[in-house]
Amino acid sequence: MSLIEKAKSFLGFDIKEDKYALVDDPIFGKVAKAKAPDKWVRTTCGYCGVGCGMYIGVKEGNAVYSKGDPTHPVNMGTLCPKGLSEHEMVRADTRVARPLVRKNGELVPVSWDEAFSKTAETFKRIQAEYGKGAVAVISTGQLLTEEFYMLGKFTQLGLQTNNYDGNTTLCMASAVMGYKQTFGSDGPVGCYEDFSKAEVIMLIGANIADNHPILKLHIQRNQKVRGKKPTIIVIDPRKSKTSQMADIFVPLKPRSDLALLNGLCYIIMEQGWEDEAFIKARTNGYREFRKHIMANYPPQEVAQITGIDVKTLYELARTYALAESAMSAWTMGVNQSLSVPIRSPPSTTSRSLPAISAKRAARRCPSPDSATPWVHGSSGSPHPFPVTAIMPAMPTVRNLPIL
Ligand code: SF4
Repeated sequence: MSLIEKAKSFLGFDIKEDKYALVDDPIFGKVAKAKAPDKWVRTTCGYCGVGCGMYIGVKEGNAVYSKGDPTHPVNMGTLCPKGLSEHEMVRADTRVARPLVRKNGELVPVSWDEAFSKTAETFKRIQAEYGKGAVAVISTGQLLTEEFYMLGKFTQLGLQTNNYDGNTTLCMASAVMGYKQTFGSDGPVGCYEDFSKAEVIMLIGANIADNHPILKLHIQRNQKVRGKKPTIIVIDPRKSKTSQMADIFVPLKPRSDLALLNGLCYIIMEQGWEDEAFIKARTNGYREFRKHIMANYPPQEVAQITGIDVKTLYELARTYALAESAMSAWTMGVNQSLSVPIRSPPSTTSRSLPAISAKRAARRCPSPDSATPWVHGSSGSPHPFPVTAIMPAMPTVRNLPIL
C-alpha cells in the first residue's frame, strides 16, 4: 500500500470501493463483485437436520458463496449463520485433507495407499491377537444412506463383528422405539407447515432460536396464515433465547419432562378435555394408560417432581388441550435426558395424598423411557403397556422432532 493510500485509509477517505463493489447475478441479483461465482450448485445444507435448500457459488473451481434457495419450502431463501458459512468450511485451513498417521508421536501426512495398508494391517493384527470382537466402528449421522449401508456391510462382513454403533443411537434410537410403539412407524407425524397453522405451539427440550433458527420463520408466518399470533409454550430448564419467545415459559427441573407430560395427561383426563371420539376410533390400550396415569401422576406429585406449581400445570393443560389446533415439537433436550437406573414400583398415590418427599420424587422422575414421545403411555415407573394410535395421528395434536 502506497503512502498516499495509507493516508487515505487513515483519514477515512478510502471507502474500499473495489472490495465492497456489487455486480448483478442472474439468480440472486446483487452479489459481491470480489467473489461473483462462475456458477451456482444447488444443494442441501449439511449442518443440521432442518434441511435447508441452498446454492453454493463456485468461482474458479472453489466454493466462495452460500445462498439460501428461494424456492425451497423449508427455508424460503434464508439461511442461518451456520448455513451462510458453509462454503468456508469446504476450504478451511484446519480441514484434514489428507490421511495422517502417527509416527514417533507426531501425526504426519501419508498417501492413501499407506493409510489403507496400515489400517488393514492393524485391524488384522488386533483381531488375530484378541478375536473379531476386539474392534468396533462408530459412525455418524452425517453419513448418507448409501454410506451407512456400505459401512454396515464392511463391519459385518469385512471385520466380521457386530460392534457397530453411531451417534444416531443417542439421538434417535429411543425416539424411533417411541414412535414405533405409539404410531406403528418411526415417521414423525408433524411437519414444518404445522408451525404456521397451529394455534398453540409447545416446544419442549428444544432451543430453536439458537439451534434451528430457520423454524422461527414458520412461526412468524403463523400470524399471516391464521390472522392472529399463536400461543407459544416453551418447556425448558434453561432460560434460552427460545424462552424469550414464549407466552408461557415452563422452567421445569432437569429430567422431569416425562413426569410433566404425564401430569398434563392426568389433568386433561381428569377435566374431560380429551378427544374421546378420536381416542375411541384411533387408539388402543387407552384404558390401561388412563389407569396408570391416574394412579401415578396427580398434580401435587407432578408439581413436586417438576417444580412447576399446580395452578400452572392446570393452565398449561387447558391451553394445550382446548386449542383448536395444537402442536408439540421436541429435540434432544428430551431425548438425551440423563436416566437414573432405579425404577420405583407403581405408586398407589391418589390426588388427595400429601406431597411426596424430595427423595422419592427424584427416584420417580426420570427413566430409560423418558425419551418416548408424550402421547405414548410411558412413565417414570415401569412401563406396563403401549398406547398405540392408528395412523394418521391425532388431527389437532402433532408431535414433531427437530433433528
Ligand atoms: S437451520 Fe442453519 S444449519 Fe440447519 S440446515 Fe438450515 S441453514 Fe443449515
